Amino acid sequence: MNTATQKTATASAIDLNARASATFAQKLAATQALLQQAARDYAPSSAGDEPRVTLACSLGAEDMVLAHLINAMQLNIGIFVLETGQLHAETLALLARLQASSRAKVSVFKPVEQATIDFVAREGKDAMYKSIPLRKACCQIRKMEPLSRALAGKAAWITGLRREQSGARAEVPLIDHDAVGGTERVKYNPLSDWTWGDVWHYIAQNQVDYNPLHDQFYPSIGCAPCTRAISLGEDFRAGRWWWEDEAAKECGLHVKS
Ligand code: SF4
Repeated sequence: MNTATQKTATASAIDLNARASATFAQKLAATQALLQQAARDYAPSSAGDEPRVTLACSLGAEDMVLAHLINAMQLNIGIFVLETGQLHAETLALLARLQASSRAKVSVFKPVEQATIDFVAREGKDAMYKSIPLRKACCQIRKMEPLSRALAGKAAWITGLRREQSGARAEVPLIDHDAVGGTERVKYNPLSDWTWGDVWHYIAQNQVDYNPLHDQFYPSIGCAPCTRAISLGEDFRAGRWWWEDEAAKECGLHVKS
């Protein structure tokens, strides 16, 4: 192994990616302002209630940045995690650390256990590889149904979507609307114009905790059976549902009806 290869093999995600864009300071200020606006506009209806806005935290790099901002700015915004029962050990360990360190309440939503047992008994443990409908059925049970519960009673939610992540996300606006579970909500995407370099610059500058899988060439991390490392030159989301066509590669969380 030559020196250059050795350096790449041992470089962290911060070493490889932390490169702020020229307008990073303005983007960060806009993100902070948007989060403040969300906390103000969707404050609890009455004292003792939960805030009506929540961060959907996948525990990926973008969402760890948002969770850090919410905590650092002491904003009254909830955080929730969908624990699908198929997450990597590294992701579960990060979840435990976030729960222990977060000022904002971190709520964990799991699938209905009997639904997962019935699905695996009927379709097999590897159903997601057999067809797109079966993969989406698994996502429905493990992600979409818990998401509906996580968003129940919320008027707005926050995501770490960025335009750069994929062609399907190229038009993501800062403020959007959707209707998960049939309820209209405001959807904030405060990092929509951040680059991957901006995300890692923030993580490096603020010593944000992150999933060590990012150091092993997993830029986008989901369930273990549906995520792999990517190679040099592959797209950001090439490691997600890699056996499917590009157009099908969303789990439904961010697909508009
Ligand atoms: S990402 Fe894979 S394992 Fe996770 S819910 Fe979807 S199909 Fe199932």
